[in-house]
Amino acid sequence: MYATLPKLAVSNHLIDLRSDTVSRPSKGMREAMASADVGDDVYGDDPTVTALEEQVADLLGKEEALFVASGTQSNLIALLSHCGRGEEYIGGVGYHIAKYEAGGAAVLGGISPRHLTPDESGALVPEEIEAAVQPDDPHFAISRLLCLENTFNGRVQDQAKIEAACAVARDNGLSIHIDGARLLNAAVAIGRSAQELVAPVDTVSLCLSKGLGAPVGSVLAGPKDFIAKARRNRKMVGGGLRQSGVLAACGLYALHNNVERLADDHANARAMAQKLTEIDGVEIDMNSVQTNMIWLRLSKRGEGSFSTYMLERGIIIGEPDPGMRLVCHLDFSADDIDKVVDGFAGWLR
Ligand SMILES: *Cc1c(COP(=O)(O)O)cnc(C)c1O
Repeated sequence: MYATLPKLAVSNHLIDLRSDTVSRPSKGMREAMASADVGDDVYGDDPTVTALEEQVADLLGKEEALFVASGTQSNLIALLSHCGRGEEYIGGVGYHIAKYEAGGAAVLGGISPRHLTPDESGALVPEEIEAAVQPDDPHFAISRLLCLENTFNGRVQDQAKIEAACAVARDNGLSIHIDGARLLNAAVAIGRSAQELVAPVDTVSLCLSKGLGAPVGSVLAGPKDFIAKARRNRKMVGGGLRQSGVLAACGLYALHNNVERLADDHANARAMAQKLTEIDGVEIDMNSVQTNMIWLRLSKRGEGSFSTYMLERGIIIGEPDPGMRLVCHLDFSADDIDKVVDGFAGWLR
């Protein structure tokens, strides 16, 4: 999934569909960086970081927020701040926290993962959460936290299912964190406020470096006492940054300029999926194309390597195994769709 790129291929003119993290900061964003007012954020002196943290806290309806280096660091700090050694969190098989974060919570925090298999939409099943919570018994790790994710594989999570999962968690004394790396994609896709979507949870991680187009950064939001703890844990994992206002400026720029336009990414994904699904050998569940991601399966193969074939046509893409994903972002335009579709059709012909 995280295919790397031959060095010779790095260019601004290629169509890159591997991830929405590949977009480059725009001219306006670079200007915002250049003119950002900064200070030493470890001393609490950086006004641009503080402004970003306040805006994200407001956006998410939480008391406070903390600017961090990445989504992985944000989730790690959240877990370290919610759970102690010998405690466990309940998450989902395939969630980012479970699969793509190098087991950080267990390695660095002594926190046990407990991963339930989500339903087809990516939601955790309330009865299974309930059954997973351990009784108070010296045999068991102490169940402390429920971790959700929205969007999951580009799917917008059903708010009623989130609420049901949270209700069970509350009844069992668990705190709740949501990995909302692409939460704003979900909010824009269904026309609800981000604040509404995360109202049932305690803490939220939001990525600025995905569809929002910032080069670096995530924000962790939650209650005041939690963020105080998270600030200490951020320092502990080496994430205390200094004049990071130059990076926070990108986040502020993104929140002002790049949120509503996520709808363009969603429309591009939908339009491209619609065309791809008409090609013999491409299988897409159109129902799963809800935001900026297309998950597809190739039921036949062309000759040689698909990614090499596409690269020769100026398109960077993973190798199908036989499933793969295509991700739309702000450096991918509607004009690029036909070139990609032609590439699929040409290789599969
Ligand atoms: C990308 C992503 C992360 C991690 O973000 P990084 O900035 O790449 O560390 C966490 N959760 C989800 C759902 C993501 O998509």
